[in-house]
Amino acid sequence: MTDVACDLCPHRCVIPEGAAGDCRVRVNLGGKLRATTYGRPSAVHVDPMEKKPLYHFLPGRPVFSIGTAGCNMHCRNCQNWQLSQRGGEEMETVHRAMPDEVVALARQEGCSAIAYTYNDPIVFYEYVEDTAAAARSAGMRNVFVTAAFINREPLRRLCRVLDATTTDVKAFDDRFYQEVCSTRLKPVLDALVTFREEGVWVEVSHLVIPTLNDDLQQIRRLCKWVRDELGADTPFHFLSFRPMYRMQNLPPHLSQADRRSVDMTGREPFPFTRRRFLAAAIGAACGWAALPMTRALAALQSSTPRGPIELSLAAADLYAPHDLAG
Ligand code: SF4
Repeated sequence: MTDVACDLCPHRCVIPEGAAGDCRVRVNLGGKLRATTYGRPSAVHVDPMEKKPLYHFLPGRPVFSIGTAGCNMHCRNCQNWQLSQRGGEEMETVHRAMPDEVVALARQEGCSAIAYTYNDPIVFYEYVEDTAAAARSAGMRNVFVTAAFINREPLRRLCRVLDATTTDVKAFDDRFYQEVCSTRLKPVLDALVTFREEGVWVEVSHLVIPTLNDDLQQIRRLCKWVRDELGADTPFHFLSFRPMYRMQNLPPHLSQADRRSVDMTGREPFPFTRRRFLAAAIGAACGWAALPMTRALAALQSSTPRGPIELSLAAADLYAPHDLAG
């Protein structure tokens, strides 16, 4: 019986023969590490790019999106828990699509990019790497939608075939990461810097959970970190909370906290992105369902130049954060 070590993410699982790592989908089969979801997506959709959310990378274009099962985080509020908190053998729907077939399907659907999304693509790393390489050869772009709990070395290698990422920062608080997500903050921040160093286009998202990570000073520190370490031109998207999975005891969104976030972002010195940033934040504060988006648009246009703002808000109309496409 030979144990195998997985060095892909900071969990660094040592997996006994016949067992799986913390993510449920990387297993020890006969003393070899295998990814059980290679070539087996459980979710396949064509989404608007803004749904990732990416607002400044191929805006308005459709993106062929695939996800599998499993995750190396266990967020109590996970919006896609039916995928992420299950192993491959527990999935009701499993397609078969090897990398070249994914690229062919994307082309057939008129997409010029492929997104690895829905569950964290870190846990289907090899499938991403091979599909992204095939997509590159076919002239397509690759988008990595992640919470970025990954070790630096494998991330650097993967960056060679990635073009853009939306990275979700759960909180600027290590205790939150430990208690709500079963992970740590520092590797996520390191990964964001690595994306930047490797020339991958980065947009950051942040889901505001009432009472848990909505402290304004903490949000402000996160904003400052993004500005200082990633650059003031980094788009930043606030997402609204919806009660899901093991966190159904909280209200859908706390308007007051969201509005205070909007207010704060309006004052935060992000010279280039502030208005876009604000636009996204207003979308979050509106809670999408109530959607006084046209009023928000009118208010913004009366105080800011047209152009990028219009684009962000038009995109925001399409955007349902963390939804699986229906
Ligand atoms: S990717 Fe999975 S198996 Fe590998 S270290 Fe992370 S949780 Fe463990």
